[in-house]
Amino acid sequence: MLLLALALGAANCSRPIPEPEPEPPRNIFLLVVDTLRRDHVSAHGGSVRTPNIDRIARRGQVIAEAVSSFHQTTMSMGALFTGRTPSLEWTDGDRLDWNGKTWCGLTRFARGADDDCIPSSLPTLAEGMRALGYRTIGVVANELLYEPGGYRRGFDEWREVARAPFPPDRNRRYALPRRLAISRRASKVNAEVLKVLEAQPEDQPLFVYVHYIDVHEYGVLKRPYAKAVELLDADIGRLLEALEEKDLLRDSLIVLTSDHGEELYETHALETQARAHFGNPSFEPVLRVPLVSSQPLLQEGEALVRSQDLYGLLLQAAGAVAPPPRDTERDELFVSEHDFQTYRRGRWKSTRRRDGKTSMLFDLQTDPGEKRDVSDSHPGIVAEHQARMDQLGSSLAATGKQSATLSESDAARLRALGYLE
Ligand SMILES: [Zn+2]
Repeated sequence: MLLLALALGAANCSRPIPEPEPEPPRNIFLLVVDTLRRDHVSAHGGSVRTPNIDRIARRGQVIAEAVSSFHQTTMSMGALFTGRTPSLEWTDGDRLDWNGKTWCGLTRFARGADDDCIPSSLPTLAEGMRALGYRTIGVVANELLYEPGGYRRGFDEWREVARAPFPPDRNRRYALPRRLAISRRASKVNAEVLKVLEAQPEDQPLFVYVHYIDVHEYGVLKRPYAKAVELLDADIGRLLEALEEKDLLRDSLIVLTSDHGEELYETHALETQARAHFGNPSFEPVLRVPLVSSQPLLQEGEALVRSQDLYGLLLQAAGAVAPPPRDTERDELFVSEHDFQTYRRGRWKSTRRRDGKTSMLFDLQTDPGEKRDVSDSHPGIVAEHQARMDQLGSSLAATGKQSATLSESDAARLRALGYLE
């Protein structure tokens, strides 16, 4: 658009042609690949060849510094859907218990114990898209996004892949994780997406959110992690091809990211052989995520993009004019965990145990693997980070502690995904 305007302007110097306002995309596709590490995507210089993901970015952007707001689906998607920092902070430096009401990280907005995990007072991304004229469609394969909810709010169509064959006998469902994993793999998700799209009215712009879980389930599916990424990339290719055939990609925006990364038995300063995405504390492999878009999404000068920033970036791309909500600075990351608090700004990253027994500082520029605690050499930065964490801890504190305990079905779902023993 800009190049065209400049070229026309050059041809007619006496009367410069103003640059036209960019049109919002015809359709918007948000593809979330659960548990996808940034360093396993070739567009990011990663170790796995992912030609289909790379293709998305060919005329758009590879956003180098995208990070998860929290190393777990419910929190990071809660952030992405609301633009808010997910948090377990409660008053006096204490933290909320982790349960079905608090696991979106948005308890501070709840209006009572019966409110949703994404509280009803918060507008969601899908509601915003709908207000901008998009027909909103969500197809998800991670059951942590089913209930207790809020995730589906604002979607005209909402499909939970592989939910139907298993309830009401929940015990049977969770006894068969491999069968469940197969029944909700990416090919099934794609088929569901195409089926829903088939039934939509013509002429209305679409916002389509697709959440894949295959890479998360590499263990259950008995695949090496890298192989799971490679296979998923091929499925992304199949979806894009089908969308292309239906002419749904023309003048449209595709954004692909992940909700969090994964530890692959790496060793860090504090723990040895970290695995999965449990965090506590959240080292970089669980936080770094890929982010590619088929049209430029970021303004010059913006660097760090957290899950919650995608809320504003996507709505702005769709034509929203109001600025997104802001409860932390744009260039900082605060991860409010069960046992730890982690803070990052620029190259420096601090992590401290809530009980005060451990506090560490890492220089991500010289030590990206977070193996050396350098707090002794940089007391000024440590003090700055500690003060900021205290400040954010109280500004993000929930106003009333939720007493909800984990229901049996919530516990079963957490167990199935490996979050609970
Ligand atoms: Zn996840």
